[in-house]
Amino acid sequence: MSTITVKAFGTEAQDKPLHSMDVQRRALMENDVELEILYCGICHSDLHAIKNDWGGTAYPIVPGHEIIGKVTKIGSKVSKFKEGDLAGIGCIVDSCGHCHQCNDGEEQFCEEGWTLVFNAPDKHLGGVTYGGFSKHIVCDANYILKIPEFENLGAAAPLLCAGITTYSPLKHWGAGPGKKIGIIGIGGLGHMAVKIAKAMGAHVTVFTTSPDKVEDAKRLGADEAVLSKDQEQMAAQKGYDMILDTVSAKHDVNAYLNCLTVDGSLVLVGLPNEPLDVGAFNIVSGRKSLSGSIIGGIAETQEVIDFCYKHNITADSEIIKMQDVNEALDRLEKGDVKYRFVIDMASLSN
Ligand code: NAP
Ligand code: ZN
Repeated sequence: MSTITVKAFGTEAQDKPLHSMDVQRRALMENDVELEILYCGICHSDLHAIKNDWGGTAYPIVPGHEIIGKVTKIGSKVSKFKEGDLAGIGCIVDSCGHCHQCNDGEEQFCEEGWTLVFNAPDKHLGGVTYGGFSKHIVCDANYILKIPEFENLGAAAPLLCAGITTYSPLKHWGAGPGKKIGIIGIGGLGHMAVKIAKAMGAHVTVFTTSPDKVEDAKRLGADEAVLSKDQEQMAAQKGYDMILDTVSAKHDVNAYLNCLTVDGSLVLVGLPNEPLDVGAFNIVSGRKSLSGSIIGGIAETQEVIDFCYKHNITADSEIIKMQDVNEALDRLEKGDVKYRFVIDMASLSN
């Protein structure tokens, strides 16, 4: 199969900084679209993968799954896009397209396995897929999203992962008027969850370990903010219908199970690399659920993009140059970002 050479940033080892490299992508096929990448967000999943936190990282890795770009080429059978359109790519770049889950628009549960945009087996070229820390990308049009003219385009890139990953469970568990929703961990995902849950009409409480984020929570739209290290404040939290847990490291979930109402759900989206301890009594009393959710399907990703455009929601973003990515990853590890780094890909030469 013919290939094209594109500029990217990646690393050969978990303890080596990311640097400029060339990678091969497939040449355009009839159902494909080529994008020039304009912006790519940095998610904690990129950091987990670079550091091999979950095991299974194949090096060299080129991360990045919150991609916004401009269409530069279209395959002969593509009608959804034309050259010059704005377009987005999130986590999913392929799936079987015919199983029950794919037919239901839940490609994230594809029974034959879906393909992650980076560090997943590449069905076409062998090796692994390379993500959005790159100048160009080629992808099947069915997995590409339409992007409206956001005023701050770079700040819309995080909708492709942080947006859909929080929108999907909030919608599934019925966040809306009359519902009391908690959001744990105010990072990239958490701050999007606050904005989206408020736009859905829910009462929103932030649970944070960071005193400065207690101050900032109201600005983000939260009705209440709780410092989770303060046991007195935590003991007063009751009656939550759903609590969305976006924390990236091991933490105590039992304290949050105790905040739920009868039949309430604690929903994990954060992916710590260590198992969490759950006390049975904290679940059985009140018939509570501990659940989880992973990104969302392509149709629902389009839905969250359109929802956020309508409600004027984007991520609070710190736009950086590609060359500053290692410093940004160090700061993300320390929790020093309010609330998402986004790379301006114009800084990566052709
Ligand atoms: P992030 O920006 O680093 O935010 C994580 C937040 O968790 C931090 O800002 C901090 O919030 C809190 N936190 C971090 N370490 C903690 C600790 N030891 N104890 C308690 N709280 C802690 O990360 P992100 O990009 O939002 O991603 C969050 C997690 O979701 C990651 O594990 C990522 O891999 C995962 N993820 C999952 C999916 C999915 O589909 N399920 C999709 C994307 C990402 P406070 O300062 O407010 O306490
Ligand atoms: Zn992500």
